[in-house]
Amino acid sequence: MTSHIKIEPFIRSDQYHFIKFQVKNLVHAYSTVKDPNVLKAVKYGALDKVIDLFPEIPENQAEIFHTITEIEEDHQPNQYLTELKEYVIPFKSVTEKTVSKLFPKAKKLKLPSSLKEIDFREISYLGWYDIRSEKKFLIFNDNGKLFGVHGTFRHTTKGICALCNGHEEVGLFMANVKSGKETYTNRGNYICTDSQTCNQNLRTLDKLEHFIELVKK
Ligand SMILES: [Zn+2]
Repeated sequence: MTSHIKIEPFIRSDQYHFIKFQVKNLVHAYSTVKDPNVLKAVKYGALDKVIDLFPEIPENQAEIFHTITEIEEDHQPNQYLTELKEYVIPFKSVTEKTVSKLFPKAKKLKLPSSLKEIDFREISYLGWYDIRSEKKFLIFNDNGKLFGVHGTFRHTTKGICALCNGHEEVGLFMANVKSGKETYTNRGNYICTDSQTCNQNLRTLDKLEHFIELVKK
């Protein structure tokens, strides 16, 4: 790791989870494949996929990813991921004040106590279920600005999540959104019950961005 160069955080959380997924595949290959040539192809294939995420970055910055090829079965892949985490952009800070601004009508809304345990570098959005109001609250980063939406949430069963595309425990989220001036319409989608699991599954923002557009209308 070229630790002497100072690089500002530039990796998004979903990209970090994409890299994590590549590392997991690599570790899996080591436990199942014996042919060194195949393993070499897997390693460099993983590196290519990671580098392809960042077409714009300069060579010296791309170097931080190269040690993925040094990961061996006996070498801790966690070290690689820990080192990369320094370059992950954390989700914008969310305080009680932020929450009351984003949800002015939700009186006495409390932030979840589990918030302190959340690693803000590992989330692309913040979501929790408020037992008191029986609503699910979601906070997104919409082009650099925090955007909040809340709605009813009815847990169903396993299904495909509209945010992460994972096959998880999901529920029907129905957001009350203003459509025009006076009418309200419900817009719903099945999303993960556990937003932390959802964030771990988020390896691209395509679906999440589509969801934001849907509930913003
Ligand atoms: Zn999900």
